[in-house]
Amino acid sequence: MNDLPLNNEFDRSPNNLDAFWMPYTWNRKFKKEPLLLTSAKGMHYTTIEGNQVLDGTAGLWCCNAGHGCDRITRAVQETVAKLDFAPTFQLGHPLAFELASRVTSMLDGYDHMFFTNSGSEAVDSALKIALAYHRARGEGHRTRLIGRERGYHGTGFGGISVGGIVKNRNVFGTMLAGVDHMRHTHDLEKQAYTVGQPEWGAHLAEDLERICALHDPSTIAAVIVEPMAGSTGVLMPPKGYLEKLREISEKHGILLIFDEVITGFGRLGTPFAVDKFGVKPDLITCAKGLTNGTIPMGGVICREGIYKAFEDAADNDPSSSIELFHGYTYSGHPVAAAAGLATLETYKEEGLFERAQKLEEYWGNAAHNLKGTRHVIDIRNMGLIGAIELESRPGEVGKRAYEAFRKCFEKGVLIRVTGDIIALSPPLIIEKGQIDQIFETIQTVLNDLD
Ligand code: PLP
Repeated sequence: MNDLPLNNEFDRSPNNLDAFWMPYTWNRKFKKEPLLLTSAKGMHYTTIEGNQVLDGTAGLWCCNAGHGCDRITRAVQETVAKLDFAPTFQLGHPLAFELASRVTSMLDGYDHMFFTNSGSEAVDSALKIALAYHRARGEGHRTRLIGRERGYHGTGFGGISVGGIVKNRNVFGTMLAGVDHMRHTHDLEKQAYTVGQPEWGAHLAEDLERICALHDPSTIAAVIVEPMAGSTGVLMPPKGYLEKLREISEKHGILLIFDEVITGFGRLGTPFAVDKFGVKPDLITCAKGLTNGTIPMGGVICREGIYKAFEDAADNDPSSSIELFHGYTYSGHPVAAAAGLATLETYKEEGLFERAQKLEEYWGNAAHNLKGTRHVIDIRNMGLIGAIELESRPGEVGKRAYEAFRKCFEKGVLIRVTGDIIALSPPLIIEKGQIDQIFETIQTVLNDLD
């Protein structure tokens, strides 16, 4: 690390920071006032100035086991030295098979996993699997895909099309034809300061029925939702909402996809949101916590019967060989698979999902203690995830929260903001004192903020 330029003598002149076009970043602002992290361990990042910053966001919702876990580091180091790369097209290596078996065995009723390198690729893969599944069963007329307003499903053309973030969509257009959206389920008037799932909003799942009536359900391949929407501000599913979506989709032969890129691997105090809400979708996308964020990897987990439909179709077609014409050079990359296996072992050995469940109440109380703090108009929580919604300054949506982010960082706490919502998702190893530190810092910052 020390022989890299990223040390305290790092030259911050614009030329050095210029070339990297940073994703989802106010680049001009960042390059003038950069925030640079140089190392991480446990619950903390260290900045280039040598300051410790408590990680209230698990990086980007990824590092559920905390940073610098020895077991994961060792697995990555050993694997890269032994098997740097191996294709998984018509070849294989044991680690990817083992990881797919381990992940699917965490879920009752799921039997196959397709590997990708990110959440965005997992989403696009799931949409393609849904389309191909119907075609394999002789229902190729099912081509429509249904998403939801305020959904975030990554940045592929599939993901932004079914996603419901206006800024992700308005520049690039809707590149997939035949996409429709249900309404989102967030309503502050009805739901503000709810602990856990809101009572109000299950009826909004009837939007799927309305869309079915409009387009004819036999034209619809799949509906995709985040069981708990993370990136658009931590929006909890109303009680009964996901159950109703399952009921309607099943009735019409439409595949239900849960995008669990954030909720997978313990974030809600259960292995998956599927376990938290007791609703079983047909496909589950995951990424982030799959490898604790160490090596990029994502995947699509398939319910029993999905893969079999491809096999059956292939068995009935003598000319067929490859069941699904889709894949990535790095699908099931050995180093990522090793990181995934070590990550799952870490979650299990350290009982981190149970830990998140046990801390949920303390976390929720600490969050809701901020009710009445300046600018706060809502607080919501579930598992080890929370959101504090701020009133926006007129004509300046997002500015107040962005300032809060910078000020918290200066005070040694990393938070994430989306619009004027503070979203929190710490590593599941967090201690109670650190929970207090996060919320006390936010409270102090908000009280001082215009
Ligand atoms: N889906 C959901 C629900 C996400 O939260 C994200 C990222 O935050 C993605 C997909 C995209 O994942 P990635 O950034 O790894 O492509």
